[in-house]
Amino acid sequence: MSHVMNTYARLPVAFVRGEGAWLWDSEGKRYLDALSGIAVNTLGHAHPRFTAALNEQVGKLIHCSNIYEVQGQERLADKLCSLSGMQEVFFCNSGCEANEAAIKLARMYGHQQGIESPAIIVMEKAFHGRTLATLSATGNRKVQAGFEPLVGGFVRVPYDDLEAIRQVAQHNSHVVAVLVEPIQGEGGIRTLDIDYLEQLRQICDEHNWLLMLDEVQCGMARTGKWFAFQHTGILPDVMTLAKGLGSGVPIGACLTAGKAAGLFKPGNHGSTFGGNPLACTAGLTTLNIIEQDKLLAHADSLGRFIWQGLVTALQGVNGVKEIRGQGLMIGIELEKPCGDLVKLALAKGLLTNVTAENVIRLLPPLVMSKDEAQQLLDILCPLIKDFMQS
Ligand SMILES: *Cc1c(COP(=O)(O)O)cnc(C)c1O
Repeated sequence: MSHVMNTYARLPVAFVRGEGAWLWDSEGKRYLDALSGIAVNTLGHAHPRFTAALNEQVGKLIHCSNIYEVQGQERLADKLCSLSGMQEVFFCNSGCEANEAAIKLARMYGHQQGIESPAIIVMEKAFHGRTLATLSATGNRKVQAGFEPLVGGFVRVPYDDLEAIRQVAQHNSHVVAVLVEPIQGEGGIRTLDIDYLEQLRQICDEHNWLLMLDEVQCGMARTGKWFAFQHTGILPDVMTLAKGLGSGVPIGACLTAGKAAGLFKPGNHGSTFGGNPLACTAGLTTLNIIEQDKLLAHADSLGRFIWQGLVTALQGVNGVKEIRGQGLMIGIELEKPCGDLVKLALAKGLLTNVTAENVIRLLPPLVMSKDEAQQLLDILCPLIKDFMQS
């Protein structure tokens, strides 16, 4: 019997090594990775320059505590702010922690304005993590069930519905912030259009609310821009990052600008591991390699290639509802639950995922080649056709 707590319905395969977009299991079978550990392995597996930078850092200094200055944090924060236009960064170890920091910031911001019971607008089908505050912000009953009482102070509205937000603004004077994913990941690769985000920015400004974007999944060059909000003309007040930031080394970040900057003072927030020298090297090296290898443009063009391939192959296939997403964050919505497709693809040597029950999710590493993307299509499209005909 396993001594690992039974919190995941795991697939019966164990990977022992990887290279680029490929993984090998303990039996020596090779798999094409179209999931990247759920948007984590930005640079694929065992990227030579990334590995070298980590090795060098491990030999120098792994951890020293936030009691001291950490040079890597300064460098990574400088780089993240210059790429995003944000002003300050708090480093932590995961997406839920980055969102916890954002939630605490919003509450502190509210208290400073004399609002004793500040509320944050969140979305239906949102996913923000599994700590108590972030599961309360999450819009999925399955994540919350059994863990009540939930943390209060969240007001939920439908995704992609500005009118619902305007209604809340009229009736609720406790609201201090809106927390939203520019592209919902777990919720089924649902995208917001540019106009929605620009109008939401305006609503937040009119009411003095913080606009807080959860880019834990859609950030880090995945959509073909450094951050998903950069497809628009707006700047958020708060943005959270994690998943792809360290290419597999745990690191999260909560970035602030404008009225959200400067809110935390010493003692307000902290993390033992947050932004340690190893994690910051992973973050900084990931950003540098994305730049050097022009992976933004590659994510954009490869995303278009995969999207076009899917559209062409699946055109007219009964039960294929919609193919959507941006860059290398692609969802294929089917008319029936399709969790079984994950196992069928695994048997054929392809790693994918299904979210929201009926959405096949593709999150390939940014280093995937066009030839590998073609292999992905050649395996996946016939599987979907067969599955919809069965
Ligand atoms: C994965 C995810 C999180 C939670 O990140 P963890 O590192 O698992 O805590 C939060 N928000 C979004 C949008 C995510 O996709």
